[in-house]
This record gives sequence, structure tokens and C-alpha cells, in this order.
Amino acid sequence: MKYYLATFGCQMNDNDSMLIAAGLEQYGHQSTDQISDADIIIVNTCCVRQTAENKAWGLINSLKPLKKSNPEIIIAVCGCMIQEQKDQALLAKQLPHVDIICGTFSNLNIPRLIEQADFRRQQLIDISEKPREECGYDIGTKAFGNYKASVNIIHGCNNFCSYCIVPYVRGREKSRNPEDILSEIISLKKKGCKEIMLLGQNVNSFGHDLGVDLDFSQLLQQVDAIPEIERIRYMTSHPRDFSRKLVDAINNSEHICHHFHLPLQSGSDRILKLMNRGYSSDYYYDLLSYIRSKCADAVITTDMLVGFPGESESDFEDCLTMVRKCQFDAAYTFIYSPRKGTPAASMDNQIEEKIKKQRLQRLMELQNQISLKLNQQMIGKIYPILYEGPSKNNPNVAQGRSDGNKIVIFQMVNDLKPGDIIDVKITEAKTWNLYGKVSKDK
Ligand code: SF4
Repeated sequence: MKYYLATFGCQMNDNDSMLIAAGLEQYGHQSTDQISDADIIIVNTCCVRQTAENKAWGLINSLKPLKKSNPEIIIAVCGCMIQEQKDQALLAKQLPHVDIICGTFSNLNIPRLIEQADFRRQQLIDISEKPREECGYDIGTKAFGNYKASVNIIHGCNNFCSYCIVPYVRGREKSRNPEDILSEIISLKKKGCKEIMLLGQNVNSFGHDLGVDLDFSQLLQQVDAIPEIERIRYMTSHPRDFSRKLVDAINNSEHICHHFHLPLQSGSDRILKLMNRGYSSDYYYDLLSYIRSKCADAVITTDMLVGFPGESESDFEDCLTMVRKCQFDAAYTFIYSPRKGTPAASMDNQIEEKIKKQRLQRLMELQNQISLKLNQQMIGKIYPILYEGPSKNNPNVAQGRSDGNKIVIFQMVNDLKPGDIIDVKITEAKTWNLYGKVSKDK
């Protein structure tokens, strides 16, 4: 059968979807990007922000007429938005046209549930929390041979930032067995993979629950020692847990990228405390200074959340001050939206939408100027760029990424394969992209 898989949300969801796809392909199903061609439709949902939730609901509801006209079509909905729901009866009522409904702990069982075909007799709903052995996390290497892949190293989160729904829908932290991680990476390498992204809600916590003497910096060193893996990335890091030992391990490595994504969220110490982030703006700035003192070529990016309950104009000014001081290469900026069941959702002084939007705009304008300025400083320099394929906007030119994860567009070169690394001299810089020419100079 043909399957169509729609994914909303973060890279953890992307990774889950990739594992679901791998499972479906092991049963002989084939992917299609046309929903109208599909026999199986899977929607992997996100509830981290209201916009993601609205988009997922829009798609799910649009499937009702399709199911009515073709009852044979199989529809499955899974992910965080489902796990957030504690009421099975309500889910059944909201989603009468959906055959299989799984939370985050049973996402990866969807391919097996489709084969069992029990959903033909009755709608299947599974939103129970499961022990990790039953979640299919160790499903192993994906079926796809690609130049880059992500590998989960830890699931869940123990941090309970006051605005975040993740610990409620992904459960507590569970590190994967290091032998499984390393053998998965070796297996991906044998299929031609050149770039590995180690994934987790908080990768810096890796290992603390394993009862062995191995932390994230040591795991990174072991991955770095695997030959032919050219680039190693990781996502997401919590600044509070980003140790100097980890910075040193990255600096002393051969293949770990010098891209540091460290979500700051707010520049106001008062708001950081209300967010339960566990660090101050001074601590954060000291960490950045240490990184820059060790890795002169560090590319530093961040996440910022504006409009947290009670955020005053002066708190917001502190955010702008911190952004000016930190000089991030890029910032992913978000408007706070209350997530039911989190402490921040019931805090007083929720901020008016209009003010949130204005602040977002001011923050983006500032950050865009900084991003452009830092990108312009790259003009005339040569960087090793990992070729990803033709540019999405113009298939006649090539697109790749620098070690610092910046997108670089350059002229197409014969025989260049995705995953190859080529030297490119930067000739032009914009806020989000760089442009260059393949260079023979060294
Ligand atoms: S660290 Fe905080 S923001 Fe990140 S997933 Fe955990 S609770 Fe959410």
C-alpha cells in the first residue's frame, strides 16, 4: 500500500516519523507525497505551540470527507497532541474517522498495528505511558540510506520549564543504551551516512540514568572516533547543563561541529526564574564567553520566547540587551502561547496578543541585523561545505551547509553527491543564506 505521512513539530517528531516510515517500508508499503494517492494516512502531531496544534487539527478534520468517500483508507493520528489528551472517550468522539490513535509512547507501533488489522473491527486508541522497552525506541537503523541521519540518544525531559508541555507528553528522561547508539551510527555509516545529529530534548542529560560512568561529552568522543562520519551535531542543549568539560570535548574533537544552539528564551533574570530555566543571564553570558574563548569559529544560535506571562517592557528590554550582547548568528523567535496543564498557563498577567506580536517584530528586526552583519563578515573566506542537493528555490544551483549549519548556495558541480564536502568561497551574504563559488584555493 502507499502511505502519506504528515509531521508537525520538532526534530524529535521528524525522527519518530522516520522510524514509523522505516517500519511501514519493512512491511512493504511505499511512500507517496500525494494524499489523494495514499491508502494509509498518518498525521504525527505537535502541541508545543497553538499554531502547530491548529495546523494538525486542520489536516485531521480535512480527512473526514476522504474517509467517508473511501472507508477502506487507513487513517492514523499520533504524537504529542494525542498524548496530551487524557480522555480516551473524548478522543474517540473528536476523531470518529480515525482508525488508529496513538500517543508518543506508542507512535512507533503504528506499522505493526496496521498489519494486525484489528482497527477494522474497532477504533484503536493507545495513550498509556509505557516502559521504554515497549516503545520501540530501539527499532534500530532506518531503512533509508541517506547522507545524513538523526539518532535519538535520550527521550523525555525532567526539567519542567514552566511554559513547556514536553515533560507531560514525552515523559521523564530515558537515555538509550550507548552500545545501541554506537552500533546504529556504525550501521548508518556503512550505508553512506556522513552527518549524524544526536537527538534529545536535553542531550546534556544523557547517561545520568544509565548507572554507568558515561556522560554526553564522553558519548560525543566515542562518536567522534567512528571513521568516515564527517560531521556530528546534537540538539537540543540546555544551557544550565552545558558543562565546560563538554565545550573542551567539542573543541578537542575532529568532527563535532562548532555550532552551539543554546536556547536563552529570555534575557530577563526575573522571567528566567518564572520560566524555571535554572540559569541567570550572567551565567549564560559566561558560558558563551567560554565557548568563544575555546572555539574562535563558534556559530552560536538560540531560541527566544516573547510575551511570557508578566513580561514587562523592561523585561523585554533586557531581552534586547542580551541579544545585542550575545551577538547570536541566528535566533529562532517564538510567541508564548499558554499550554493547558503547565504552570505558566495559569499565571496572572498573560500578555495581550498585540503586544506579543509587536515585541516579536522588534526582536526579529534586531536579530536580523546581527545575523546579516555576522554573515557579511564571512565574505571572502573559504569554508568546507557539505553538499545537500539542488537548492529548493532554484534546482540549477547547489545547496549545502557550513560546519556552523549556515545554508550556502553555490554553482552546481559535476559528479558532486549529497554528503560530499567541497570548499566554497563566500561572495555574498544575506540574513538567512550565504552565496559562494567553489574554490580551488587553500
Ligand atoms: S528543557 Fe524545558 S523547554 Fe526543553 S523540553 Fe524540557 S521542559 Fe521543555
